[in-house]
Amino acid sequence: MPARDDMALTDFQVLARDGRARTGAITTPRGTIRTPAFMPVGTAATVKGMMPESVRDTGADILLGNTYHLMLRPGAERIDRLGGLHRFMNWDRPILTDSGGFQVMSLAGLRKLTEAGVTFKSHIDGSKHVLSPETSMENQRLLGSDIVMCFDECPALPADRARIEDSMRLSMRWAQRSRDAFGDRPGHMLFGIQQGGLEQDLREESAEALRAIGFDGYAIGGLAVGEGQEAMFGCLDFAPDQLPQDRPRYLMGVGKPDDIVGAVKRGVDMMDCVLPSRSGRTGQAWTRRGQVNLKNARHADDPRPLDEDCTCPACRNYSRAYLHHVQRAGEMIAGMLLTWHNLHYYQQLMNEMREAIAAGAFAAFENRFFAERAEGDIERR
Ligand SMILES: [Zn+2]
Repeated sequence: MPARDDMALTDFQVLARDGRARTGAITTPRGTIRTPAFMPVGTAATVKGMMPESVRDTGADILLGNTYHLMLRPGAERIDRLGGLHRFMNWDRPILTDSGGFQVMSLAGLRKLTEAGVTFKSHIDGSKHVLSPETSMENQRLLGSDIVMCFDECPALPADRARIEDSMRLSMRWAQRSRDAFGDRPGHMLFGIQQGGLEQDLREESAEALRAIGFDGYAIGGLAVGEGQEAMFGCLDFAPDQLPQDRPRYLMGVGKPDDIVGAVKRGVDMMDCVLPSRSGRTGQAWTRRGQVNLKNARHADDPRPLDEDCTCPACRNYSRAYLHHVQRAGEMIAGMLLTWHNLHYYQQLMNEMREAIAAGAFAAFENRFFAERAEGDIERR
């Protein structure tokens, strides 16, 4: 079991529930994370196109960093020598790092998987590396992350049951090794990761194994890997409730705004996704009225803001015509402004959900969310 004498340093409290949705707070020495929380992704020690203070201005309480990318370049030891990831990237609030497992598994052909771990070749220079529960814990310790993820393995869906079962059991053995290697680190949290594909009994077996080991939080892994929203929600109808009520639940790699609303409704507390930042770099905006493509010629003469009710700098200070122009001209500010807007929109969405849950009004929030999307984007002038 995790040492409980660190209770004063890290904590999780559920403050209100509405149906299965909950709002609360994770306390860490680097600040409080309001839940449900959306974590912007800072893959290579930066949220692409954003200054860290701007990321904070959007309302983000925590960032996600990718261990795989950082261990290869610039290297976890180097980041440690330079004072850790927070100092290196000028972000003093909480950071969650993934284990590197997900990225390494997607290097088909470049990797070899055994009970011990994964041997792989760097996509940057072809150099050989090993990721295992032990080396993943060491890399995440060197990075100095506040929330450390267990090293696990997960197949892309669809996969046959035998493959999902074997993979889940391997991940549970690795979860125990991750717990042992993590040791006792007051002020830092270790999250276990539930696997088992879409199979309810395998998810239960996984949850039971994780509960027996004992973690500070629990992730729902192996979703958003090609199964589609309906299947994902079907799994979320039971998976969060299999995990301890008094610990945060993190749905990895999700998602679009409607995925996020559906996950929160089903009891998820934390999420991350590259979507708002990646979309921002390709001219795609997410708004209350759905997705807007700023590359479209219909914006070329439009003096109106992207969303007149949005308080982000892109909407306060620039027209659709300008956003369209800089996007078409390939100017850097296009990606900067749209990333800012998208991250702001996502954080606004989390804010609204936290308030709705606290007020016992999640159903009303949900009705409004879908009604505004159904209206579609504003008409061309
Ligand atoms: Zn905006």
